[in-house]
Amino acid sequence: MTKKLISKNPSNGDYIGEVTVTSHAQLTSMVKTAKASFNDWRVMSTWERAKIVTQAFESLAPMQRDLAKLLSMEMGKTAGRSMGEVSGVIHSAEYFAHNVANALKTEKIGMKTQIQHRPLGVVAVISPWNYPLAMAANLIVPALVAGNTVVFKPSEETPIVANEMVAALNEFLPQGVLQIAHGGREVGQNLVEADVNLIAFTGSQQAGRDIMKRASGTLKRLIMELGGNDPMIVMASADIDAAAQFAVASSFENSGQMCVSTERVYVDEAVADEFEARVVAYARQYHVGTWDDRAAAIGPLINDAQYQKVNAHIVDALTKGATLALGGEPLKSPFVPATVLTNMTPAMLMESEETFGPVVAIARFSDIEDAIRRSNDSDFGLGAVVFGAKEAHDVADQLEAGMVSVNQSVGGEGDSPWVGAKQSGFGFRGSVQGHQQFTQVRVFNK
Ligand code: NAD
Repeated sequence: MTKKLISKNPSNGDYIGEVTVTSHAQLTSMVKTAKASFNDWRVMSTWERAKIVTQAFESLAPMQRDLAKLLSMEMGKTAGRSMGEVSGVIHSAEYFAHNVANALKTEKIGMKTQIQHRPLGVVAVISPWNYPLAMAANLIVPALVAGNTVVFKPSEETPIVANEMVAALNEFLPQGVLQIAHGGREVGQNLVEADVNLIAFTGSQQAGRDIMKRASGTLKRLIMELGGNDPMIVMASADIDAAAQFAVASSFENSGQMCVSTERVYVDEAVADEFEARVVAYARQYHVGTWDDRAAAIGPLINDAQYQKVNAHIVDALTKGATLALGGEPLKSPFVPATVLTNMTPAMLMESEETFGPVVAIARFSDIEDAIRRSNDSDFGLGAVVFGAKEAHDVADQLEAGMVSVNQSVGGEGDSPWVGAKQSGFGFRGSVQGHQQFTQVRVFNK
């Protein structure tokens, strides 16, 4: 029996569209098609593939507005943010495709040895809903340019916008090079266990663990971009206004549903009163509304489960002694108001887990060593930020994260790696080393 996946607007439950859930048999057949298409795709030069992939992504340009609107309606983010995401996907494709091709050039060692970067075969790209097109494109572009074929499973929360993108890309890509499979966790698990060579995954730590187990039978290659619980340290020497603005903007970005949003703030008690007052003042300016409400800066959360989780974290914090400095008005699921909590402690879920909602959670410290220890006392290690004068560099240097920044957001310039430390992932995308992870290194003596 065919199962349907119905996609709804998170703001009001309106019907957006539906897709058929990919059965086990269909998935097996997709992987077969991907393997057959690999034979012709792999023998092209990386530069030829980079050109085709670029053309395919640039062909989305006339659809930019429609895709952005669909993205907003299906996922809830504001219209401007969706335009930014779609435009980024279209216009960065050439840059990344070019860099991938460059990264995969054969290197020569000595008189006879070549280090080659060969395609792996079929890549399973599994992506989340929070940046549904960007997170997919970030893995699809390097996978394809490297000469692999792709079976892509988007999140079950955002199947329609993913479908539209893939259908348009397939007007340009050779048949079978990029296919889309639909469904939730179970379809993801089937894809992981299918005869694929690399799993390029972006999503939660929990799913990452399950994927690793299921991939172990045949030792599949893995690229894991997982969740975070990013700390921010505000030192007494910081520009307090800039730090407060950053704490709010980063905690509320994408309604708090960003892997590197600030999840917990440690502020020096010497400046805490001023910092907290400014955070509340900035946070008050963030209005909640639907994607097409021009005054809104915080949209709905993706679904009721996420709404329940964020509220459970807030209740847990308040029960354990946190102070509600802003927020608290009950809104209809899945809307959560701009929330500021102070007096966070390590016993609270807000400190130990990824909350993924529009909450600024603040703790005070009297000893910088304590702030460093609490920042690092986590399984996560995606991003970390320090605000302060010169000595902030030394503090930042002690933070255990894949991406660390002083007085600014995380993530490097240009084609830097997007990388997590500890249980926020391994294997990564971006940079020469990242692009090469979509390939098999082969040492070839001529
Ligand atoms: P999720 O892990 O629930 O789902 C992600 C994708 O994996 C979906 O397509 C889902 O259907 C599939 N899936 C779920 N369980 C699976 C399993 N056991 N086997 C195979 N596939 C499975 O995550 P989500 O709720 O969609 O996204 C939010 C999470 O993603 C957050 O933790 C966030 O921090 C993280 N994220 C990380 C990055 C990064 O670059 N590090 C970027 C964006 C989001």
